Amino acid sequence: MELIIHGAGQTVTGSLYQIKTKAVSFLIDCGLFQGKPAEQSNRNQTFAFEPSSIEYVILSHAHLDHCGRLPVLARAGFRGPIYATSATAELCKLLLRDMAETEEEDAARARSQPSPSRSNHVFDAEPLFNVSDAKRIVKQLRTVKYNVKESLPGNVTLRFRDAGHILGSSIVETWIEERGKVVHLVDTGDIGRENLPIIRDPDFPSAANFLLCESTYANRTHKSFSQTIARFERIIIKANRHRSHILVPAFAIGRTQSLIYALNTLVENAQVPIIPVAIDSPLAIRATEIFKRHRECFDSETWGLIKSGDAPLDFKGLQYVERQTDSDYLSQKRGPIMIVAGSGMMNGGRILRHLYRRIEDKNTNILVIGFQAPGTLGHRIVNGARQVRIYGRKKRVRARIESLYGFSAHADRNELQNYLSSLRGHPPQLVFCIHGSPRACNSLTKMVKRTLRCPAVAPRIGQRFKLA
Ligand SMILES: [Zn+2]
Repeated sequence: MELIIHGAGQTVTGSLYQIKTKAVSFLIDCGLFQGKPAEQSNRNQTFAFEPSSIEYVILSHAHLDHCGRLPVLARAGFRGPIYATSATAELCKLLLRDMAETEEEDAARARSQPSPSRSNHVFDAEPLFNVSDAKRIVKQLRTVKYNVKESLPGNVTLRFRDAGHILGSSIVETWIEERGKVVHLVDTGDIGRENLPIIRDPDFPSAANFLLCESTYANRTHKSFSQTIARFERIIIKANRHRSHILVPAFAIGRTQSLIYALNTLVENAQVPIIPVAIDSPLAIRATEIFKRHRECFDSETWGLIKSGDAPLDFKGLQYVERQTDSDYLSQKRGPIMIVAGSGMMNGGRILRHLYRRIEDKNTNILVIGFQAPGTLGHRIVNGARQVRIYGRKKRVRARIESLYGFSAHADRNELQNYLSSLRGHPPQLVFCIHGSPRACNSLTKMVKRTLRCPAVAPRIGQRFKLA
């Protein structure tokens, strides 16, 4: 029995792990590498194994770095089922369809450009996958409930546990049998934080033979969610007083709904004045509809609000903006107003138009609530760039930049340490520290050795490990 690391080895993106026994070969996740465009397109197009030899895929959650290469896998010959929770399956369909449309548009734009600008590798002339590839995946999705053991082909048993990261997110627990020996392998997927809005907290297992553990923030600590909300409250009150714009670049799935939930609480409790809040992203609007439907994922606090007659994702002043023409009008409106738009790292999407218009305005706030990868516009802005380029034009950064990382959906150092402690009674034979920068992965290996006194490695892509 063998585990092969095909992605997220000493890097955050591209999660993909293969498990091979005499009876079966399957994958956990099939995610997209995200980074520099040229590098990214090569790595995303090919696999280091034969896709048709894979019997099935188990999907931890619907973020592109975990599910974004499924259409490429299917186009290359994979015909098996994809197991996911019901909410993950729905979000995955939405996300892959949206990505396919963007890929097709970008490719068409690249083909229409003269060849010198094509060599900048801004866009590929061929989409990574198209809408019909994304549609094919829909037929392969099979839903599995949380906390129910499901028998899969090849003597494998699967159980999804709450990961507390985004709606539908799971810790993937598998029991793999070969020659009478059972190996209990756990993949944390992306593991969330305690008390994140809407969804239940992570349900970390108390035993595992082998653990794949994410390391994203293993070397950092976040502010608590309540401290974050207190600061958010002050920002809104001040913006109201100065009639300012608050621009929030946000990821459509997860972060946007956490923000809406937090605003609902602040408005309903009269902690902040009612100001217009525009969710300016068709993808975020669709995702919010899916959140509202999947009540089976809600935590007791959210249920409490529903029972008291409150709609947790709706409040006075909230508006959803579908049409581009309405979006264009938003940043010209007089403040106070909060505009929530993608993309989360300010690399594209509607947020760019708002930044273009308002980044030189001292009375505008740019509220950063998520990780900004090196190479992105968001990374330059949070690191204090005085001048940036938007749509090819130089812009002075005069707006006030506020960072609220407490909205992060990933566990920090202390939370990871707490989760690992629950394995103290049954420490694994080996822990794989994955899904992080080399420094973060190394921090986690040290933490595992200290907390559990068991071996830990930070594997590289392509490494193979014998499990039995
Ligand atoms: Zn994620």
